[in-house]
Amino acid sequence: MEPIFFFDKEMIVKFADGHHRPYKYFWYDDIVVMYAPEFGNAFAMDKFRFNGEIIGDDQFVNKSFIVLNDIKKDKVHLLCTFYHELGHIKLNHLKDYTGEGRAEAMARDEVYYAELEADKYAFEKMGRNKTIDWLESILSWLENQVLAREHEEELRGLSEQGKEGLVKYKQARSEVMKRLEVVRGLK
Ligand SMILES: [Zn+2]
Repeated sequence: MEPIFFFDKEMIVKFADGHHRPYKYFWYDDIVVMYAPEFGNAFAMDKFRFNGEIIGDDQFVNKSFIVLNDIKKDKVHLLCTFYHELGHIKLNHLKDYTGEGRAEAMARDEVYYAELEADKYAFEKMGRNKTIDWLESILSWLENQVLAREHEEELRGLSEQGKEGLVKYKQARSEVMKRLEVVRGLK
């Protein structure tokens, strides 16, 4: 069943440094779908892995999470993102996931296998055109991030952080270009 992105529940997370923060969420079967705008991208977790704990409730123990950082995108974009992340959960990508495998693959200018499998999962739910549109819109966002930093570099030079950002966005751009190529070849 398709999710409707109605974030009708709220949890309070107590972070390791002591501060509290509320998060809206809803249940999709037994998966927690939460809205966390402080992140730069959506992601999935096999269990709650923020640096803190959800207060006063054990219903979240051993539950998988999908974290959406931007819920103001149009519905199709949101659904593609959702199904890509759901794919990571359903295809068992998360049990030993540390992010290193993907980062290493990106540094070698390759695509981590799990990203291709999750794209295929989204493709099967959403179809070719929507999945391609979704990846193209991510690509154009990344393109803008790269161009803005290159422009800044020419004008004023980049800080160390800025340089790292430029490398990271270029790698991400290259990854999405390859993912698009693979999705275009799917039947
Ligand atoms: Zn992914």
